[in-house]
Amino acid sequence: MSKKTEAELLSEKLFYTPQHANYVCDEKEIAKADKFCVDYMNYLNTCRTEREAAAFTRELAEKNGYTEFDSSKKYKAGDKVYYNVHEKALILCTFGKQSAGKGTKILAAHIDSPRLDLKPNPLYEDSELGFFKTHYYGGIKKYQWPTIPLALHGVIYRADGSCVNVRIGDDEGDPVFVVTDLLPHLDKHDRNMSEVIKGEELNILIGSRPFGKEKGDKLVKLNIMKLLNEKYGITEADFLSAELEAVPAFKAVDIGFDRSLIGSYGHDDRVCAYPSIMAALAVKKPEYTTITVVTDKEEIGSDGNTGLNSSYLKQFIGDIASLEGLHGRDVLRKSECLSADVNAGFDPTFPSVLDKMNAAYLNRGIVLTKYTGARGKSGTNDANAEFVSKVRTIFDKSATLWQTGELGKVDEGGGGTVAKYIANLGVNVVDVGVPVLSMHAPFEVVAKTDVYMAYKGFKAFLESK
Ligand code: MN
Ligand code: MN
Repeated sequence: MSKKTEAELLSEKLFYTPQHANYVCDEKEIAKADKFCVDYMNYLNTCRTEREAAAFTRELAEKNGYTEFDSSKKYKAGDKVYYNVHEKALILCTFGKQSAGKGTKILAAHIDSPRLDLKPNPLYEDSELGFFKTHYYGGIKKYQWPTIPLALHGVIYRADGSCVNVRIGDDEGDPVFVVTDLLPHLDKHDRNMSEVIKGEELNILIGSRPFGKEKGDKLVKLNIMKLLNEKYGITEADFLSAELEAVPAFKAVDIGFDRSLIGSYGHDDRVCAYPSIMAALAVKKPEYTTITVVTDKEEIGSDGNTGLNSSYLKQFIGDIASLEGLHGRDVLRKSECLSADVNAGFDPTFPSVLDKMNAAYLNRGIVLTKYTGARGKSGTNDANAEFVSKVRTIFDKSATLWQTGELGKVDEGGGGTVAKYIANLGVNVVDVGVPVLSMHAPFEVVAKTDVYMAYKGFKAFLESK
């Protein structure tokens, strides 16, 4: 290799040049990333909804020595507790050697993803075909949801108050469901992008055979209802007290000849939730109390009592503060948080919406996003320089590959995360997460090395002094 010129050496020293993990990590570390992602892909296939992700996390926590938090108990350093938020969000906490009054280290990721929810009265028949009506959840490009296999997940509460779990469409031999689309031969309509498929056209095909041999009214619907009654013990009115989510039925898979990428539904934001949980489990005796939150409702603005715009995190921190005779505010003002959420990866097919200098690229590590928001940084936590400095130092010291990122060019769009709700409690917060291609599509793409860097960075943050 030829000797580097003086200019090359000085550029290396002075310029910000994030690099592909392949140039920074040795073979051993790349292999570690690949192995970590095998487990991540299993998690993706197991957890298709926020309820399933919360239940999985709770079970895993129990296996790892966590017990349900009890505010009347005394806890010592290293004790591990979990706090169940209405079955759809969960907090994992490990008590630190220091008093909670010295602050806590918080990781917050969300486990809800865009999808099609069934309407409260969804079942109908038209032209001897049976359908469910849906109401989409989160920001979707509606045209992406027809003609893909869909599975149905969720819970139904029957009239007597008993509950039945629904999970159909993922296992070998299961039927799947589908939103139909118009054939190109007859699709001459000049609809604009948001109307290629309208919200009220996202109807899911669920059957076509009538009940019995005698002709009559709504017999396809009746036959479906009969099958549902036999399988789940429900009647039509029970749909009102149900939460049924149609999610893509395909499994997480490797992408590329080099298998460097993962395609799956729900990377946003389980690709940050999973490394957060694994980091929480790996940190056995932290200096400061660690709090890992997997939350619900981020995709619809964090409202609702399982979202981070509610008081559950504040209340939990208030509870752990009072164990030591402190107020929640004493803990909150000294606490620090990584809002672990994805950002847009640069897609060379659509270069115009991102500023190349400030975009995140796949395989260049986790993205430190100082602000998201729209227009003049509206609706965002704009992280302060002091805290960003602290976080990048933690990443540098732990050899965690990181890069900066912005959610789109100025005035191009924008978005929100849970960061601002935690910041509003007085906590220092910055967004950190994995870059994603095709975000919010039924099949999103991430790079394996970035998933592993998320784990590494989150663990280093929880362990930081
Ligand atoms: Mn997200
Ligand atoms: Mn999202």
